[in-house]
Amino acid sequence: MRVLALILALLPLPALAQTLAEPEGAMAEGREVETEAGFRAWIQDYRVKALEAGISAATWDREMRGATFLPDVVRRDRNQNEFTRTIWDYLDIAVSDERVAMGQAALKKHGPLLEKIEAQYGVRKEIVLAVWGLETSYGNFRGNTDTISALATLTYDGRREAFFGEQLLQALRILEAGEISRADMQGSWAGAMGHTQFMPTSWRDFAVDFDGDGKRNLWSDDPADALASAAHYLAEHGWAAGVPWGMEVTLPKGFDYDLTSERVVKTAAEWAALGVTPAAGGALPAGERVSILVPAGAQGAAFAIWPNFQAIESYNPADAYVIAIGHLADRIAGGEPIRTAWPRHWKALTLEERKEVQERLSAAGFDAGGVDGRIGPKTVAAVKAWQRARGLVADGYASPDVLRDLRGK
Ligand code: CA
Repeated sequence: MRVLALILALLPLPALAQTLAEPEGAMAEGREVETEAGFRAWIQDYRVKALEAGISAATWDREMRGATFLPDVVRRDRNQNEFTRTIWDYLDIAVSDERVAMGQAALKKHGPLLEKIEAQYGVRKEIVLAVWGLETSYGNFRGNTDTISALATLTYDGRREAFFGEQLLQALRILEAGEISRADMQGSWAGAMGHTQFMPTSWRDFAVDFDGDGKRNLWSDDPADALASAAHYLAEHGWAAGVPWGMEVTLPKGFDYDLTSERVVKTAAEWAALGVTPAAGGALPAGERVSILVPAGAQGAAFAIWPNFQAIESYNPADAYVIAIGHLADRIAGGEPIRTAWPRHWKALTLEERKEVQERLSAAGFDAGGVDGRIGPKTVAAVKAWQRARGLVADGYASPDVLRDLRGK
C-alpha cells in the first residue's frame, strides 16, 4: 500500500499536459476512422508539406518508416476534457509530502547547479525544482513514447493538425541536426520531451546548452541542460527576480468577488487598503499588477498573484498547475501548507454536469457562452450573474450546489 501511495503521489499529472496551452478554439473534428494503413497513406501525403518546410527526403523517409500509429495517444488526447479534478485533489497529488521531500533532496544533490542557474536567469531555484517535480517527478518519469510516432499520430488525427504538424517537423529538425538519436528521443504521449517536458518548438526557442558539451540535451540522466532550459523559458516569459509568484491571503468579510479575476489588477497597497492580508500574517509585500484568485470560490483558499504567475502560466495555463508550482516551490523552501480548508465535500463536476450547468444557465437567461463543458470566463460570469440575481455570494464557482440549485431541487 505504501508503495502504491508513493507511486500515485509521484506520478506526473498528464491531465494538465503542456499541450493544453493550445488555444481551445483551434480544435477541429478528428478523423472518424483511423488505421495503420490510413496512417501510412497520410505519411505519403504529408511528405510534400514536410519537404516544402525544408525537411530532407532522406530524413522524412527514414524517420517515418520507423513511425507507428499509436491509437492510445489519440484516445488520451480526446479524453483530456472528460475527467477533471478539483484543485484540492490536484494539489494533494502535485504537492504531496513525498514530492516536497524529494524536492528538498534534489535541492541538496543539485544545489550548486541550481544556484548557478538562478544566478544566470534570475528564476528561484525552488521554482525550477517545482517545474521538474511536477513535470516528471524530478526526472523519474520522463516518458518512453517515441516522440516522432506520438506527434505523427496526433498530426494524422487532425484535431490540432497545424500545432502538432509544426511540432513534428521541428522534432525532425532536431534529429536532422544530430542533437539526439531517434532511439533517445522519447517523451510523453503528447510529444513533450525530457526532464521538463519541452515540446519541440520550445526546445528550438528556449533550450540551452548549460553544461557546454555542444548539445542542448533535455533527455539524458544529467538534468543540467533541462533545468537551465526551464529557467530560461520562464525568464523569457517574463519571470522577474525577487518578486513572489503569489501567496495565500485572507479576504475581509463582504469582499466583492467581482474583483477575483486575473483581469482585475491593483497594487499590493491598494489590495491592502481593501483589507487583503497574507494568510500567514504580516503585510503584503509591495508590488504592481497584483490580482486576487479564488480557485474554489468563496469556500476555499484565496491567493494574491504577482506577474510571475503569468510567467508560469506560459508553461501551462491551468490555475491549479500554476498554484501547484508556486506552492511546491514554497514548501521545498520550508514554507507552510495552505491554511484555509478546501470544500472537500464537493466532487468535481463531470463533463455532462458541466454542460448541464451551461445549458441551465442559458435557459435561465444567463449566457454561459455555449455548451462545451469548459468552464471559461463566460461561464464564470454567467454563474456570478445568476448567483447575484438570487442574492448569493457571487464567486462564480460552478459547484455541485450551484448545479443542484439550477435544477431547482
Ligand atoms: Ca549540453
